Formats: sequence, C-alpha cells, structure tokens
Amino acid sequence: MEERSFSDISYEKFLNEERLMGSRCKGCGTQYVPPRSICVDCYGSEMEWIEMKGRGRLAAFTCINIPPPFMIAQGYNRKNPYCTGVVELEEGARVDARIEGVDCAKPEDIKVGMPLKVKYLHREEGEKSETYLAFEPA
Ligand SMILES: [Zn+2]
Repeated sequence: MEERSFSDISYEKFLNEERLMGSRCKGCGTQYVPPRSICVDCYGSEMEWIEMKGRGRLAAFTCINIPPPFMIAQGYNRKNPYCTGVVELEEGARVDARIEGVDCAKPEDIKVGMPLKVKYLHREEGEKSETYLAFEPA
C-alpha cells in the first residue's frame, strides 16, 4: 500500500475510495478510527494501517434537530431530524458516523446494539467531492 500519513486527510481520501481505514499501534495493538499517529494508550508512535470490514453495532446515538447549514441544504431540519451515533466496529474501534435508514421520529425504534453496516455518502460541491461516513441497519 502506498505510504499515507496517519491523518484526517488520509482518512478522508480513503473514504473517497470507499475504504474505512484506521491505524493500529504496533506496540499494544490499540486501533483508532480515524487514525492517530500516536497511541494514547502506550504513547507509541509505530502505527500501521488496517482496513475495517465496515460492520459493527450501534453504541450510542443522538437525533439532531438543528443541523449545520450543509445538512439543512440536504433537507434536514426540526421536522426532519437526522441521526448521528457512535458505532463499535467488529474490530473493536469506535467511530462517529451518520446513522441512515432509521427514523428519528421514532427514536424508540433505534436500538443500542443493533447491527450496522457501512455506507459511504458522497457529496459533490463544485469540483470537490467529499465523502461522509455513515452506517445503516445491516
Ligand atoms: Zn499503543
């Protein structure tokens, strides 16, 4: 694999390629998604890339009623809230992501522990394309 630094820029580049990548500490094995270049567990700086399978479980979630401007542009508002959450990946790391395919009008139907799979949301803005990490019920 080509050399990429363990940064948010690399992480976003991989997302654009529809790959969910994290870093793993060679010293203690702790995994980080997005990647970190220094391990907060053992302060080691020897990291390697690992590719996540993109499956996990919902660990926590919130329904957002007051979205940021680009989300308002996508049609989200107080009457149409969207869900964000923390996903515990099969590999063990936890990652923040949008949760799609759930109904914030019925938050009682959104269950902590429900199985999820990755979904890449691409957004075009002029010549720039960005990808957002999302998960949906598996
Ligand atoms: Zn470590």
